[in-house]
Amino acid sequence: MTEKKVLIVESPTKARTLTAYLGRAFEVHSSKGHVRDLPEKELGVDVKKGFSAKWVVRDRRVVSALRKAVKDAAAVYLATDPDREGEAIAFDLLELLGDGNKDKFARVLLHEITPQAVRAALEAPGEVDLNKVEAQRARRILDRLVGYQVSPLLSLVLAGRRFEGLSAGRVQSVALRFICDRELEIQDFQPEPYWEVEARFPTEPPFSAKLEGKLTDPDQVKRLERGLARASFTVEEVADEEVVRRPPPPFITSTLQQAAAGELRMSPRRTMQIAQQLYEGVEVAGKRLGLITYMRTDSVRVADSAIGEARSLIRDRFGKEYLSPKPRRFKNKRRAQDAHEAIRPTQVALIPEEVAPYLTPEQARLYELIWRRFLATQMADGLWRRRKVSIKAGDWTFKASASWPSFPGFTRVLPVGKLEDEGRELPEGLEPGLKLPTPELEFLEKATEPPKRYTEAGLVRKLEREGIGRPSTYAQIVSVIQERGYVRRENGALRPTLLGHVVTDFLREHFPETVREDFTAKMEEDLDRIQEGQADRLEVLSSFYSWFSERLEKVERELKGGNKPFRVLSDVPCPKCGAPMEVRVWKGGLYLSCSRYPECKTTRNLPANVKYRYRGGRVELAAGLAEAEEAPGAPCPKCGTPMQLKHGRYGRFLACPNCGATAPVPTGVTCPKCGQGELVERYSPRRGTFWACNRYPDCRFALPGKPIETCPVCKKGVLYEDPRHGRRCSNPECPTRTG
Ligand SMILES: [Zn+2]
Ligand SMILES: [Zn+2]
Ligand SMILES: [Zn+2]
Ligand SMILES: [Zn+2]
Repeated sequence: MTEKKVLIVESPTKARTLTAYLGRAFEVHSSKGHVRDLPEKELGVDVKKGFSAKWVVRDRRVVSALRKAVKDAAAVYLATDPDREGEAIAFDLLELLGDGNKDKFARVLLHEITPQAVRAALEAPGEVDLNKVEAQRARRILDRLVGYQVSPLLSLVLAGRRFEGLSAGRVQSVALRFICDRELEIQDFQPEPYWEVEARFPTEPPFSAKLEGKLTDPDQVKRLERGLARASFTVEEVADEEVVRRPPPPFITSTLQQAAAGELRMSPRRTMQIAQQLYEGVEVAGKRLGLITYMRTDSVRVADSAIGEARSLIRDRFGKEYLSPKPRRFKNKRRAQDAHEAIRPTQVALIPEEVAPYLTPEQARLYELIWRRFLATQMADGLWRRRKVSIKAGDWTFKASASWPSFPGFTRVLPVGKLEDEGRELPEGLEPGLKLPTPELEFLEKATEPPKRYTEAGLVRKLEREGIGRPSTYAQIVSVIQERGYVRRENGALRPTLLGHVVTDFLREHFPETVREDFTAKMEEDLDRIQEGQADRLEVLSSFYSWFSERLEKVERELKGGNKPFRVLSDVPCPKCGAPMEVRVWKGGLYLSCSRYPECKTTRNLPANVKYRYRGGRVELAAGLAEAEEAPGAPCPKCGTPMQLKHGRYGRFLACPNCGATAPVPTGVTCPKCGQGELVERYSPRRGTFWACNRYPDCRFALPGKPIETCPVCKKGVLYEDPRHGRRCSNPECPTRTG
């Protein structure tokens, strides 16, 4: 009998892949995620005793099964993910299963899950990295202190009592503030007019040139118009240049999330789920294999062996001229965990088309994205030619240019956007001194545009640029602010709700550090320093808690003294006493309450999607409220009087002010199932608001989100705002959902 060897990972899928590799020599077990964590029902951190924390076992059955498995083993390998969280799991396993015989335990790091990589890792076992564990502990405790100590205050202040649902988070609050600030910029944006001038020359082929510079004042435009009427247009300069386009570095977590959002319409969270499946192993032609390297990384480093494989594949498939002259290596920007590699295929030779039949459509698309991006890094630059012409007319200069590709290089595998002037044409024979025929002038009146709302991918980019969040947290931050109801997705962009603004302003006033990017970035750096052994957990936690506890106490003191530490007044007067009403929170959302509460107890309903303008502690709602309650104009089916919108216990409905008849709120969208009924707004205490066919019970079609229109792509479904997936088609077979 051979000695029993046990290997423990955190995920069952990863365990299955490893079982296939290691065969009978090993027993592979899964810890099913973290084995210990802070208790759910209490703070679990003693801030007076050196932040000592209670780490409780999450599932006793898992631990006792593992205990049994390692009891008679000669060697135990802890092969949890190669990052902070994985290290903490390995540490907990060692503590819980070690029982005085810790010598037989070893830590192995699997940056990729292929037979060769696993063999190599098992031949070089190490120890649990206690600095990494310390960094994870500190991170968990910081998050816990903010989450469990600010959240109850938030509900006490905004709702007057404690309830779950309102929460603040260490990193999520800054992210929310970015979104709120952007919204205020957009709200207060004043567009400024400007003019662009284009000259269209009747040459063969015709071409246009643009006036250099912007005209911002109508007088300038008039002067130019007069001047150009007499001017002659002469070519001043013709220049040819080469445009070199270089491949981007291989993916790291943040860039993968951005590209998947842009090209595959995949949310950061979904991207990470699919990437994890590819890392942990899928079955390809009867063999389980991890197809990509570890997906949580901020390093663009690539192993030499992988570079070599990519280069020989490029030589074979595309020819030598498509190879970059020298192997390309990329530099990491900030401090990155250099033990990690970029996200790349584990075997470049597995080309996407050949692997795709074994994968789900999402896995196949993400794999292809990663494969192409990586292969491109070792390919030649893409080359374009550009001709630039400048044309003089009096004191003014016009510019024209055209460009076209001359050698595709890496763009053969990684499509790039067109250059601005790509595909334009210029006539032959343009040379300095040539007089051009009189052009037709066009004055284009334009206006400066407000900044754009963040998309999910844009928010990840912003977080990364500010040094906030880490590869393991971007996706989570983006989804948690939506789950809390602070932000919703509108046409693919993130828009704060009124609740989001209110929460942000509360934090801005009472916990300003939690919404400041420099503070949050500094804290992330402190965690990195703990991980590198250059800082001490206790020191970092104490310095955080010294200001944080002061802020906490101040709000608590004000609450105890009967003061309101924070309020958001509106421009809506109390219908009873005339005092301004203020925005309050309850479980189901927001409502208005008289600011003289408790003397005046008047309240007013606030429809969820009421239009508002928000500015520092005050919200303009009156106009939006009037609009939302205005008669939507539908005539009463009984007497023909225009019906009015009402808000009742069971959601919104239409009521006739004349005869009292009621009707559900229409949407104007035809039911996609029966093609006869109309989708209308309904409410049930269990489901909340939903939309259903008005031919119920003959037709039972229903949607969880507001319908917008019949899907323009498949024409069989309805586009609607899905609460979990954002805008999408109701038809699961629609190309917008499958392709
Ligand atoms: Zn009142
Ligand atoms: Zn009526
Ligand atoms: Zn129907
Ligand atoms: Zn569709």
